[in-house]
Amino acid sequence: MAYEYDSENIFAKILRGEIPNNTVLETEHCLAFRDLYPQAPEHILVIPKGPYVNFDHFGAEASDTELADFSRTVARIAKEIGVSPDAGGQGYRLIANTGAHGVQDVPHMHMHLIGGRVLGRILQQA
Ligand code: AMP
Repeated sequence: MAYEYDSENIFAKILRGEIPNNTVLETEHCLAFRDLYPQAPEHILVIPKGPYVNFDHFGAEASDTELADFSRTVARIAKEIGVSPDAGGQGYRLIANTGAHGVQDVPHMHMHLIGGRVLGRILQQA
């Protein structure tokens, strides 16, 4: 089954410059910006510039170059904002909500990088 990308989603508009964003870092293949409704002192969204619907799509079809740039960008941001344990920080959590059970709202692949406080256990009872 082919992935269907909706080019009118809000992150596609951000990538086209139609909606403002609070950019943290931009690379050849990724954009990272602050979440509009942060859940913790540090809450950054990292997105690939390519039209990937979710992690399922990205992990399956992105090029090795895009995948490497994405991972390196996440790790670099964690260091730059000071949450990386390697940079003396207290750690962080990565979340890529995917599809209906993942409760994904925006249909453009994104990784939440969240930190700056103890985040509790990964899941609460539904
Ligand atoms: P998800 O539920 O994983 O799809 O997460 C979507 C995230 O995008 C939420 O945490 C929203 O707060 C965030 N969000 C929605 N619109 C914007 C925007 N214009 N700029 C930054 N973050 C946004």
